[in-house]
Amino acid sequence: MNEPEVVLYDTTLRDGTQREGLSLSVEDKLRIVARLDDLGIDYVEGGFPGSNPKDVEFFERAKGLKLRHAVVTAFGSTCRKDAPASEDPGIRALIESGCSAVCIFGKAWDLHVTHTLRTTLEENVRMVRDSVATLKAAGLTVFFDAEHFFDGYVRNAEYAVEVCRAAAEAGADAVVLCDTNGGRMPQEVARITAEMVARLAPVPVGIHAHNDAGCGVANSIVAVDAGATQVQGTVNGYGERCGNADLIAIIPALKLKMGHDVITDDELALLTEVSHFVAETANLAPDQHQPYVGISSFAHKGGVHASAADRFPAAYEHVEPGIVGNLARVVVSELAGSASLRMKAAELGVDLSADPETAKRVLDEIKELEHRGYSFEAADGSLEVLLRKELGTYEPLFLLESFRCLMEKREDGRVTTEATVKIHVRGKRFIATAEGNGPVNALDGALRLALDEFYPDLAAIQLTDYKVRVLDEKKGTGAITRVLIESADGDREWGTVGVSENIIEASWAALVDSIDYGLRRGSND
Ligand SMILES: [Zn+2]
Repeated sequence: MNEPEVVLYDTTLRDGTQREGLSLSVEDKLRIVARLDDLGIDYVEGGFPGSNPKDVEFFERAKGLKLRHAVVTAFGSTCRKDAPASEDPGIRALIESGCSAVCIFGKAWDLHVTHTLRTTLEENVRMVRDSVATLKAAGLTVFFDAEHFFDGYVRNAEYAVEVCRAAAEAGADAVVLCDTNGGRMPQEVARITAEMVARLAPVPVGIHAHNDAGCGVANSIVAVDAGATQVQGTVNGYGERCGNADLIAIIPALKLKMGHDVITDDELALLTEVSHFVAETANLAPDQHQPYVGISSFAHKGGVHASAADRFPAAYEHVEPGIVGNLARVVVSELAGSASLRMKAAELGVDLSADPETAKRVLDEIKELEHRGYSFEAADGSLEVLLRKELGTYEPLFLLESFRCLMEKREDGRVTTEATVKIHVRGKRFIATAEGNGPVNALDGALRLALDEFYPDLAAIQLTDYKVRVLDEKKGTGAITRVLIESADGDREWGTVGVSENIIEASWAALVDSIDYGLRRGSND
């Protein structure tokens, strides 16, 4: 391919979490990094090192991730005014983050320099130059985000260019043009990017677009067309206000429509899964109508159109849904393509493609469960338990006789919860009672007490997160509750899911799957 390689830079974990109501735990972030690595993303920005305990822990633990391709990147700003970069705590935190690549932002709009930063235009250029040079001298890959670049360029092109040139001359590995306010139009972005590519050559130019005018994806695409070779964006377009440019739409556009081989075919087939995984992990409902990956994105309405679409799919679909891991809902038999299911089965030593009958049975079961409100995208643990059950290799760790939860609120405002479980393990009956700060915590405690004697490995398994979503998908009955539990044992993280009209029952199901999966993994049977 003659086209220059285009680099994908994800900022879901930093810019994406600016979205109102979106918050990710350290475990969430680590799991998302792993999935973005599966998808073939080149750089995954983790956050600001040293800015808060959560990010400090993230960068510490990210060092232990075994990534195939992705480079975890630290984000920060240029040094402070009136002091050398080498003595700047932020710059030092970037160097000490353990990341081999960093991205720093600096002001490219003169108005922001004089009014927000309150310094001279010359001092701002010095800060950019000094910061990039200091990070380069530390042996890092350095990307420079030129903040408010397009707005600055329109008002004072000479200065915006001077800032970018300072970064380029100081050794930046790419200068990224940012539409920070997200209001620029594609034709402007195309023209200005082309000019900057020519001015900064041979230093690569990138694009960082926001979606305030609904043009985040379009602006990213035209920038690449104009010669930009790095695209910064977020999964599902998550981000502050109207969001960032959506990588989930940009990636297939680049690969399928513009001839940029940014990820492999196999990676592209994970697009739908990864998009839904990130949504579920962020506890946001996936957008049913999201381009490429929504469950309605290739669903044809009934009647003549549907049967015609069935016979001549190419006449009604802009891309073949399977290529991006989605499926046309009218063609149910194509469901068999679930990549994660095949991978999961392969991990268990089962080749599902060689056993279409079992594959069909498993898929039917998954379809039925999804209809009832289950979602397995962020629940790999439950998927494995389900698969074992369908393959006939599942043996329950214990048999449940009953469980019971009591909650008491007292006059003094104190709330206590107590749970009792009665279970049978290898022919023996156990009754255990525990208190907790809520029903799930109490049930977890009681179950552990009862299982402890038989499964000492249980002590290593911790519940790290608990998410509840009320689904209204089912009509005519009470609301359905889906509980997602995330667990870890110091070595791995996994997710499990439970669904019920009763939140405690849903939690119990997710809890049992979590322990089941965790213990079997440990024993490696
Ligand atoms: Zn941004």
